[in-house]
Amino acid sequence: MCGIVGYIGVEQAGPFLLDSLEKLEYRGYDSSGVCLNTGSELVVKKAKGKLEVLKQMTDSGKSLNGTVGIGHTRWATHGEPSDVNAHPHLSESGRFAVVHNGIIENYQELKDYLTSKGIVFRSETDTEVIAQLIEYYYKGDMIDTIIRVLGKLDGSYALGVITIESPDEIIAVRKESPLIIGLGNNENYIASDVTAILSKTKKICRLENNEIAILKKDSVRIVNLDREEIHKEAEIVSWDISSAQKGGYEHFMFKEIMEQPKAISETITPRIKNGRVVLDEISLSDDDIKKFNKINVLACGSAYHVGVVAKYIFEKMLRIPVEADLASEFRYRDPIVNDKTLTIVISQSGETADTKEAMKEARRRGSHIISIVNVVGSAIAVESNDVIYTWAGPEIAVATTKAYSTQLSVIYLIALYFGEKLGRIPAAEYKALVNELEQLPRKITQVLECKERVQYLASKYFNSKDIFFIGRNIDYALSLEGSLKLKEISYIHSEAYAAGELKHGTISLIEDGTPVIALATHEELIPKMVSNIEEVNTRGAQVICIACDDHPELKKLGETIFIPKVCDMLLPSLAVIPLQLFAYYIASLKGCDIDKPRNLAKSVTVE
Ligand code: GLU
Repeated sequence: MCGIVGYIGVEQAGPFLLDSLEKLEYRGYDSSGVCLNTGSELVVKKAKGKLEVLKQMTDSGKSLNGTVGIGHTRWATHGEPSDVNAHPHLSESGRFAVVHNGIIENYQELKDYLTSKGIVFRSETDTEVIAQLIEYYYKGDMIDTIIRVLGKLDGSYALGVITIESPDEIIAVRKESPLIIGLGNNENYIASDVTAILSKTKKICRLENNEIAILKKDSVRIVNLDREEIHKEAEIVSWDISSAQKGGYEHFMFKEIMEQPKAISETITPRIKNGRVVLDEISLSDDDIKKFNKINVLACGSAYHVGVVAKYIFEKMLRIPVEADLASEFRYRDPIVNDKTLTIVISQSGETADTKEAMKEARRRGSHIISIVNVVGSAIAVESNDVIYTWAGPEIAVATTKAYSTQLSVIYLIALYFGEKLGRIPAAEYKALVNELEQLPRKITQVLECKERVQYLASKYFNSKDIFFIGRNIDYALSLEGSLKLKEISYIHSEAYAAGELKHGTISLIEDGTPVIALATHEELIPKMVSNIEEVNTRGAQVICIACDDHPELKKLGETIFIPKVCDMLLPSLAVIPLQLFAYYIASLKGCDIDKPRNLAKSVTVE
């Protein structure tokens, strides 16, 4: 997490820094700061709280002086969110300034060492040791100094460094945390992701681990740790600035919910050719595919919920055992993974540290990795054997919607692709499924029309203390996502339960008036769901059913939201829409900061 940005050029850096920090605020927003190099001194402005505080303090950057600067929006890992712990951090004499994304794992040891040399620290952060070490080792050459300092650091970092010793440059370096370089005309930039610099340039260079970039206004040099020059081709990014703007919507989350038909269409359409799913991205031969006896899906948060859906779909269609694993747990349990295991990793940003580390573990054990990622060129995309990109475009709201939906779409594509290769799907069924998949964006557009109904239901329940979600089979996987969405943005306590499991304990929490969202989209499971709904109704629950068609029996049991009928595999893509809207409207009625919920950050680049 944390967003880093830097500017070197001919214009005043302040307004750009503040503007691009706003684009990165989804990465962290407990404090922010900037440092400008005036040529003779480094001037730091930083403040606890949302970027708005810093904007007011600096007149949106206009009151800052200097054409070279770095900025940061923080998601604290070491040291509470406060003015002093906000980045940038200065060395003791104030000659070097650093912004950092990541964690320095051995910072305490380094801090003790520097303290024993008489250096006085100001903050509680791990980051400050970097600024202090740079000053401690500086002997007149910045590249030598940075190489020396990097040799001392354990952990992950993306760094932007400026110094009055060489006022016409920014030094940027990364290991395990993302950082890109933007190339402009007589100005250059650094940023944690492209959305921060799209207003200026689409021409970028990706920095790899342990590469050091030296940016001047009219040049960018990249060297490795042996000081050897590295030549990179610049690439042109396809995202445009409008996708990173609200475009008239009140919140990014709502805009992104509404963008789902388009995002899914862009993810699916290029991969269906003449009625067949074609995944050119997958390098496995038919024989390779046949040798797998297990599939592992590794992910965190909502992406993990996609993994739970995938378990139901793959097991049913491919008849291969599937484990959906929380990436943060995977490598600490000595997992049974080998070259007969296919590993699918899912991450919107492609930088999720837990997922990345789990992926490396699976790879080390001989597993073939297919990643499902939204950000082109991100670490997971680059380090997996095959990557299938979701074409969701930039997702800015912290709570995912369109990225989740496009990840689901890729799961369907994989199921069909593998199903055909393995000969597990009869031809007529395959044809019908592909056909339905192509219709999915249109059906989602239809479901989005339920928004007024969902808004009305949200207005009835937004004051609730607890809200439960229940479902069976894929509906259970979906309940997990509906519940998480609600918790994330509305701060209402919520639990998701397999509908049949509730009575084994948790039903004791159902009181008079407790809302229970019951997902009952699978026709053959409705009789059992009806019993489970009756169980909570008897105990005073207020039930909202999400189901297909105008189901008379369910109508009698509570409020209902109906979605159009589709094949079982595609049901989650439709049923998730009212869940997303429900969380959105509840959070909106409660006056929550929907796009930037408390304590969260979007790209979780720390373990
Ligand atoms: N570890 C640094 C801090 O707490 C940076 C945090 C991050 O990148 O999330 O200030």
